[in-house]
Amino acid sequence: MVFMSDCIFCKIISGAIPSQCVFEDEFVFAFRDIAPQAPVHILVVPKVHVESAAELTDENSHLVASCFEAIAKIAADEGLGGGFRVITNAGLDGGQTVFHLHFHILGGRTLGAGLV
Ligand code: AMP
Ligand code: ZN
Repeated sequence: MVFMSDCIFCKIISGAIPSQCVFEDEFVFAFRDIAPQAPVHILVVPKVHVESAAELTDENSHLVASCFEAIAKIAADEGLGGGFRVITNAGLDGGQTVFHLHFHILGGRTLGAGLV
């Protein structure tokens, strides 16, 4: 398993930093965002350290499928049948602040139609 010792999400996955885990399987870990921007705000991350969506290749893109399979399960478990939003920020201009690939699930209220 690729692990970056200075990565906060790698530390959350390993348990070195506590989190409110909502889902875990072989490839994916999901936990509640510490600063929620909606009633449901969950981060879904691959257990392998991948920096961002810009680092995806033929070799690791299966992790994205695993993340989205988890997202579907989590959304159902969280009662988001009315809809939800999935966001990934990539790079500084994309607003990324933690450089371990993650997908935000936002839901539990009606979200605006805009993207930015
Ligand atoms: P981004 O800006 O897309 O890189 O998102 C990083 C997210 O990680 C933000 O929404 C933060 O609130 C969240 N975050 C940072 N530290 C933690 C933590 N220890 N536990 C849970 N969420 C965190
Ligand atoms: Zn990491």
